[in-house]
Amino acid sequence: MIYKSFGIFSIPPKISYWSDYFSGKAEEFAISLNDAVFFICMSELNVLKEQYSVCDKCSELTSHRSQVVFGSRHMKECPIMIIGEAPGKKEDEIGEPFVGKSGEILNQLLDEIGLNRGDVFITNTILCRPPENRNPKQDELKNCRNRLDKTVEMINPKVIITLGNFSTQYILDTKEGITKLRGKIYSKNGRKVLPMPHPAVLLYNGMSESILNGFREDFKVLKGVLEEKTMGDY
Ligand code: SF4
Repeated sequence: MIYKSFGIFSIPPKISYWSDYFSGKAEEFAISLNDAVFFICMSELNVLKEQYSVCDKCSELTSHRSQVVFGSRHMKECPIMIIGEAPGKKEDEIGEPFVGKSGEILNQLLDEIGLNRGDVFITNTILCRPPENRNPKQDELKNCRNRLDKTVEMINPKVIITLGNFSTQYILDTKEGITKLRGKIYSKNGRKVLPMPHPAVLLYNGMSESILNGFREDFKVLKGVLEEKTMGDY
């Protein structure tokens, strides 16, 4: 699907790929073509980032933000994509999602199942910090939706984690709360979605061991999904 979306078949492979192919190195040719697809997709992601770095569709957000927080700094396909609500104060200052204490908790939970931030692409339902950290408005979500859908397609994750009530209800189009939804896999537009509470709840609750264990259970579910061997797996 992703090959088709970015017009790979209309882009001529490098001459060396063709010479490799005709000299009988079909396997090397396939690897080179995969590399080419990877670079094309990632350059498309960079183009999308550039386009949105000057976006002014939401007037209130545009006048309050320091910068547009597109997502993780690394621009590559990842098995996991995390969608939070919106950039906060620190994210707005630094230009990266999930920095600070909540980010440290996330790093720890990933580490416990043998993963790190390089395995995850993080973004939000909207890219600009709302004033006073209010929830995103319907028109803002709508303005930023095309960008979110394109980002999902380009990152091509095996599983999407929705963090917190707002993101989960928005992505799954439900009114159910995160407490009921967490720990289970849902399907949305052909992709697996795993809702989790926002790690900030641990900070609000003094790093409670029972809440931390709840997150550990969620991350076990994530690990199980990543280890499933199905067609198209990483
Ligand atoms: S939230 Fe999205 S659509 Fe709205 S101004 Fe920021 S980048 Fe543009």
